[in-house]
Amino acid sequence: MAVIGEGWPDRAEWAGRIFSAGWRESDGGTRPVIEPATGDTLADVGIASPTDVARAGVRAAAAAGEWAAAAPSDRVAVLLRASGVLRDRSDTFREWIVRESAGVPAKGDYEIAAALAQLAHAVGLASLPRGEVLAPQTPGGTSLAWRVPLGVVGVINPWNAPLLFAVRALAPALALGNTVLLKPDPLTPVSGGVLVARLFEDAGLPDGVLHVLPGGADTGQAVAADPHVAMIAFTGSTAAGRAVARVAGEGLKRVLLELGGKNSLVVLEDADVEAAALAGAVSTFGYQGQACVAAGRHLVHTDLVEAYTDALVRHALAMRVGDPREEGVGIGPVISVGQATRVERIVDESVAAGARVLTGGRREGLFYPPTVLDRVDRAMPAYTEEIFGPVAPVLPFRSEAEAVEIANDTAYGLAAAVHSGSVPRATAVAGQLRTGMVHINDVCAKDAANAPFGGMGVSGNGSRIGGTASLEQFTQWRWMTAPGPS
Ligand code: NAD
Repeated sequence: MAVIGEGWPDRAEWAGRIFSAGWRESDGGTRPVIEPATGDTLADVGIASPTDVARAGVRAAAAAGEWAAAAPSDRVAVLLRASGVLRDRSDTFREWIVRESAGVPAKGDYEIAAALAQLAHAVGLASLPRGEVLAPQTPGGTSLAWRVPLGVVGVINPWNAPLLFAVRALAPALALGNTVLLKPDPLTPVSGGVLVARLFEDAGLPDGVLHVLPGGADTGQAVAADPHVAMIAFTGSTAAGRAVARVAGEGLKRVLLELGGKNSLVVLEDADVEAAALAGAVSTFGYQGQACVAAGRHLVHTDLVEAYTDALVRHALAMRVGDPREEGVGIGPVISVGQATRVERIVDESVAAGARVLTGGRREGLFYPPTVLDRVDRAMPAYTEEIFGPVAPVLPFRSEAEAVEIANDTAYGLAAAVHSGSVPRATAVAGQLRTGMVHINDVCAKDAANAPFGGMGVSGNGSRIGGTASLEQFTQWRWMTAPGPS
């Protein structure tokens, strides 16, 4: 077994266990964590059975009252200490992210920096005003409304940004007084679970406030169904989001859904074509295209399409494919055989239907090279489906109206980018796109701790995470009246 992260956290403590008021044996057995680049087993983690989830739900509910009643400064102190531990242990976090999720070290650094930003933002969130003094209906009386914690929050996450997605939900949920059941994806249970538990343990989070319950769909279903859980924050595919929402809906829980996308990068004829192609390459090839906010359609004005496509191919050819731990590698393997065969099917079916491969298009094992496709039409899977791989379908358009029509021709509505020499013009086009997020002369794939992240259509359910949206999501209103001054 390849040994990584020697020292902290002590493997003897967490290997084969779950975290639920301490590290303990699970009823769900263990599961190996496989490194996509090498096939090596990196660790064995404990898998939480539905019974383990039920026990964790009871413990989290029992801890909820005291944590909610803690002074905001006490909760903030935990978040500040967690930032310190994350900084001190950043080498360990980076190494696990690189080896478990198969991203290059810069992807690990990005997740760490973004997680630190989320913790810093949550520190501010804890002390924001959260109430209103209302006009009382009885003269001289009191009428107050303020936001209180929900209780136990269930967080169900995917594998592609395991640390960031854990912290972006945990930090506001904890800051605002909730306790949490965190279910990381079974492909990344260490960087998305074990290390997060150890981080908050070292930061002094009281026992029972956070539970880390690795497992697959059945563990996720148990979290969504648990009677102690008041809210589910789910990030993942639209199909799994629907399955989670069905179960959570039955229990009348709040559901925050961050789902998939088919995001367009639009290049108008007055754009800087080199800058647009660089943004396009980053948006589709970065982390092997495995981001919900990756560009899934490159819509380019016919006047620029040749220059844009040439530049995109140049960027694709310049990226070395290999083990992300090797110096100079820009593209690692995709996460799993399932993901590799999915990307292969989408490209092969599109090519059989008439698309042309300008570069890439053939995988070796899990290594799928950056690929550029043209002659893509609207019936092809490369146009209709979220690819979640390093594949850039390029489509020409003749007018702004046509670009907007193509960009909106999807049930998804997560992110978009518009490139133009005129920011007001790009802004006007952006205003016509049905997406939760849009960026001018930039990449599609952006996030910021102070911004409301999320999508429209089947990319979500109108919920957002980040910024002041997290204050709304992770708390609920309470109204109180009294006949006199309270
Ligand atoms: P997935 O939906 O298969 O899995 C995500 C999580 O849900 C995992 O923890 C998984 O174990 C769990 N899960 C799966 N089926 C479940 C079920 N029936 N009940 C309960 N839990 C279940 O997602 P994936 O394929 O691993 O991740 C890729 C998808 O996630 C893409 O569609 C991508 O666009 C989306 N995503 C969205 C965002 C966002 O913020 N909008 C971010 C990253 C990824």
